[in-house]
Formats: sequence, C-alpha cells, structure tokens
Amino acid sequence: MRDVESIFEEMRNAIPAGPVRIKEAVDAGRKIVGCYCAYTPYEVIRAAGAIPVTLCSTSATPIAAGEEHLPRNLCPLIKSSYGFALTDTCPYFHFCSVVVGETTCDGKKKMYELLNRLRPTHVMQLPQTYADGASIALWKAEIERLARRLETELGVTVTESDLKREIAKRNEERRVMEDFYALSALNPAPLSGLELNLVNEFFKVSFGDEKALELIRELTALLCDNYKGGERRIGAKKRVIVTGCPTGKSLEKVFNAIEENGGTIVAFENCGGIKPNYEMVDETLPPYDALAKKYLGIPCSCMSPNDKRLNLLERLVTDYEADGVVDIILQACHTYNVETFLVRERVKVPYIAVETDYYQSDAEQLATRMGAFIEMMG
Ligand code: SF4
Ligand code: SF4
Repeated sequence: MRDVESIFEEMRNAIPAGPVRIKEAVDAGRKIVGCYCAYTPYEVIRAAGAIPVTLCSTSATPIAAGEEHLPRNLCPLIKSSYGFALTDTCPYFHFCSVVVGETTCDGKKKMYELLNRLRPTHVMQLPQTYADGASIALWKAEIERLARRLETELGVTVTESDLKREIAKRNEERRVMEDFYALSALNPAPLSGLELNLVNEFFKVSFGDEKALELIRELTALLCDNYKGGERRIGAKKRVIVTGCPTGKSLEKVFNAIEENGGTIVAFENCGGIKPNYEMVDETLPPYDALAKKYLGIPCSCMSPNDKRLNLLERLVTDYEADGVVDIILQACHTYNVETFLVRERVKVPYIAVETDYYQSDAEQLATRMGAFIEMMG
C-alpha cells in the first residue's frame, strides 16, 4: 500500500502531465470544451461526449500580451486567460473546439467577445440573483441552449439519459471532494493548506477519470487511518479559512505567507475549493431543472444579494474551528472587493482582506502582513 507522501508525489507529477492526456484524447477522437468558471455545467459537456477542461488563467506570464488588447486596470485572471489564448500558450485552449463562458463580471463577459475571434465562444447569460423562480427558469433555458449549441458544434445529440448519467457521476466526484475536505475539520488538521491546494489542482486535471478519483479516496482513507492511529503531521497552528477570488499557482505566495508564519489553511472556500462542490445536483428532479437549481446556487460575488456565501462562510468558520479568515481580492475585482465589508462583519473571527495580483513582487510584504495577522489571533 502507498503512503501519503507517495500519493502526493503522484498527484504532483500528474498535474503537468494533464495536457499530454488531453492530446491523447484528441488523437483518439474526443472533443475538448474549454471552461473558466464554476458556473459551467460540466454534466452537459460530458453528456455531449466532450471533455470539459479548465483553461489556464492563473499565471502572470501572458498578462503583458493580454494587455495589448485589454485595459491594464483589469483583473489579472481575465488578462491572464486572454493572454494565454492570444499567445497559444495554454495547451488546453490549443486543443479545445469550443469555449463556454458566462456573464459573471463585466470584465469577463466583455473579454469573451474578443475570445470569440480565437475560438467559438458560447456565452451563457447568467442571472445575477438566485433568490427567485424567474432566475432559475432563465438559467434552465440557458443550460438547454448550451446543450443545443454543443449538439451543433460537435455533431451529437444530448439526451436526458446522458445527462442523468453524467449528473450521477459528477455528484460522486463532488462527494469524493467533500469527504476529503472534511478531514481538515479535524483539530489539529491532518494536512497543510498547500497539500489541500495540491489535491484541488489534481482534481482539476482528473477529467472525470475514475483512477484519479480512486487516488483521492485512497488519500482520504489513509490520512484518516493514520490520524486515528495517532499521527499528527501538522502541529498546533492558527487555523485559517481562505476565501475570495479564485486561487491558483500564482497565489501560492499568499498560502506560503500564511503557512510559514504560524498558520495553517484548513479550508478554501473559493472556486477551485469548497464553493462549487458543497451542494449536489438533485438526482430526483428532471435533469435541466436540477442543473439550473444547483449551478445558480453557487455563491459567487457576482450574485446580488449574496447571503449564501456569507452563510457558507459562517458555517465553515464553526465546522473548521477557524481562528481567522483571509479574503484574497484580485486587483480590480470589484464584486469580491465590495463584499469584503459584509464578510468582515459576518465571520466573527479575525479577518483580513489582501489585494494582490499574479506577480510575486509583494511576497515579502504578504509574509509580514500574514505574520502580524496570525500573531494578532493570540
Ligand atoms: S468566482 Fe465567480 S466568476 Fe470566478 S470562477 Fe467562481 S463562480 Fe466564476
Ligand atoms: S476575480 Fe473578480 S474580476 Fe476577476 S474574473 Fe473573477 S469575478 Fe471577475
């Protein structure tokens, strides 16, 4: 049986190998659909026989190229996404036939108009509230429109039974992640935030592969057994929940700043972490209704009001026995930035919002700020 460290090593190696697996799938005749956002209903793409992949968007390298067409004072995630596509340096974008976008924030939806010149880009019109039936009806119609577009683009038919099969499969993936996330509610946590993030990144490139899911299950079981047997991999540290804008490789500077200064990250509420995975698609409902309900309920700051995010954070603070909350705001992300006021008010534990971008020049300053923040927790 493998040990925890060798499983982490296997995951580390699998992440850069993701593009090779996608190329092999393309060579074998599979279609690739590129996505950026947690609102993208993967189940529909898979029901159309294609592989949904998360496109590159979290590196500073292509930002300068992106700024040739986009304003500089735009969120780095948008500039990076577009820069990757423009320079053809995202292997996933290279292989994708269609991109699916959503009208979440202003910068992103306008960027998709330019992206459409590089790849057919289907933009789903996302209602900005989950609080009423009219929004759900609209979002359901948008999910159906996506299915019809994929049928045209990929020359396939999306049936209800295909959808039901993919809903069940994706729900199982969510359950695997939910079980894994639950481990960090143990106090002290059995793994670090950097390791938690590694598994999130690995999950992103699992492409629904059963073997990858099995590896996550194995890791969860092993960490759990070792913990029961008395192993404590992480000492007593201040327990931090990370929230805010989506995270990625370039934001590891924030995680390092927390974990090298007396803290440990016990949960990522962000997209790429708990936010898109904590609710299942209701398998008892007709598939389009179920998908509309689940996906519109994702508590992104583009929703107004967004009390679901506040409720989720409040619950996570209790469940994970958090000592503090770090809210990561990407520069020029107005929605998450404005929401900091309400988050600070709600979480009832020490809270800090850090505004940053994908460059590494503020790493030292972040370390000082996180050190002071963690010390302040007492
Ligand atoms: S934070 Fe909002 S816009 Fe960004 S990926 Fe998540 S759901 Fe999409
Ligand atoms: S981080 Fe904010 S500004 Fe950037 S794409 Fe997401 S919602 Fe838009």
